[in-house]
Amino acid sequence: MTKYIFVCGGVMSGIGKGVSTASIARILASRGFRVTAGKIDPYLNVDAGTMNPVEHGECFVTEDGMECDQDIGNYERFLGADIPRENYMTSGSVYLSVIQRERNLGYDGKCVEIVPHIPLEVIARLDRAAKRARADFMIVEVGGTVGEYQNILFLEAARMMRLARPKEVMFVLVSYLPIPEKIGEMKTKPTQHAVRAMNAAGIQPDFIIARSRVPMDAPRKDKLALLCNLREPDIISAPDVDSIYEIPVNFEDENLSTKILKKFGVRPRRRDMRPWRTLVQRIRAARRPVRIGIVGKYFGSGNFTLTDSYISVLEALKHGAWFHNRRPELVWLDAEAYEKNPARLKELSSFDGIVVPGGFGSRGVEGIIKAIEYARRRKIPYFGLCYGLQLAAVEFARHACGLKGAHTLEIDPHAKHPIIATMQDQIVNIRERKLGGTMRLGAYACRLAPGTIARKAYGETNITERHRHRYEISNEYVPALERRGLVASGVNPERNLVEIMELKGHPFFLGTQFHPELKSRPLRPHPLFRAFIAAALKQQRRAR
Ligand code: GLN
Repeated sequence: MTKYIFVCGGVMSGIGKGVSTASIARILASRGFRVTAGKIDPYLNVDAGTMNPVEHGECFVTEDGMECDQDIGNYERFLGADIPRENYMTSGSVYLSVIQRERNLGYDGKCVEIVPHIPLEVIARLDRAAKRARADFMIVEVGGTVGEYQNILFLEAARMMRLARPKEVMFVLVSYLPIPEKIGEMKTKPTQHAVRAMNAAGIQPDFIIARSRVPMDAPRKDKLALLCNLREPDIISAPDVDSIYEIPVNFEDENLSTKILKKFGVRPRRRDMRPWRTLVQRIRAARRPVRIGIVGKYFGSGNFTLTDSYISVLEALKHGAWFHNRRPELVWLDAEAYEKNPARLKELSSFDGIVVPGGFGSRGVEGIIKAIEYARRRKIPYFGLCYGLQLAAVEFARHACGLKGAHTLEIDPHAKHPIIATMQDQIVNIRERKLGGTMRLGAYACRLAPGTIARKAYGETNITERHRHRYEISNEYVPALERRGLVASGVNPERNLVEIMELKGHPFFLGTQFHPELKSRPLRPHPLFRAFIAAALKQQRRAR
């Protein structure tokens, strides 16, 4: 029987509920249990694919092609395992299947009601996911914070599960304890209110993960425990950390896995946190920097920079840097600034490598193309991810192949040279505006050409990587690009689609149609990110 741990959030969002979920999964897996993790998101979007990344952070893609919340990426990185599509649901997807079932007479003429039919659908999905993973434990993150309307039906599902199987279900509240500057004291009251909100939903947390700027002291732990109806050891202090990968180690320093197992009445198994502790030591020891500039557009929201829009890219770059014992110095570069003032391109020379991540639409594109041209001509290592490949091909077509008017059909549907075009099935999707969940999604095979940077980096010929795109390199133009040195070093064997291109005679100028960042893990850095950072370090030595 799978045991479930629901992780809810209190007080406010953005305090690391996803990483806490991933870390609980990690520490239980480190004790030899079979663990999986899942997320329930309250919004009505059927998946995360139609949301602007500035609104909701990166859209992660699973191996089986689900467009989901970025937290799934954290689960994969911490667990070192693929999370299947069953492990993710939104209010939209749950309602959609209940309504579809009703339309198919699947409820035998009954009145279909929000309660219990929505929570029952949630429970059925969780059980399916746990069964498929044959999980001893499934950690389920409930999106949003307790007390809002949006996620109340998910709490209801969790409550119903606990009622039906009291020994198999547990609750963790990840809450925030502010230290108002003028008061200078850690305040427990907001968390007390969060617990009240949970209680009102019929749920008592078994543990509180107390997020705060500094560790929680004994008097406040005692107070919070008493007022929230918990024992003091069940309050886990979780102060801010430099690297999220320290969190499982911190949880284990508070013996969290042992406490969880004890409450469930599960016999503890030997703990092996060694690989994880070694990782944390490696991260802490990396002092010398490697400086990478990331050129894109999904950074700004008012006065704030939302690094969440590219979280997997950032993590993959960090994994690559740590692999080479370097401290990643990742700098955001606003593509639009290069359009307004091309003289600013000079700043690119101060970087050891340039990345252009995935993207959509026309904003900033000419600035990105300028940055790519700069990196190509000055031989600065360049790594293009999806849009970063497509725009590199456009840049190369325009400036190295003399194809004036080269562009992607995504931006210029009448381009004279449509270097980036669509496949036939996508033309229909675009015309009929069937735009949700219809991109080329998930894992596809790729065959690597001998003697290329890509082949060398992977150390094997046949690989699979995850995709999320509607447009492709047009095979019509591949010969022209290859004649000038931009060669297809990876091709999908089934449909003969270009997956990787790289430039001969450049230290590292490589773009992928897929998103390698989605498969990079801290304990298994992605081969292309390792190779890119290696090239960046060569560039660093050359530039000095
Ligand atoms: N906009 C491009 C496409 O749809 C690239 C997508 C991406 O970078 N993920 O093909």
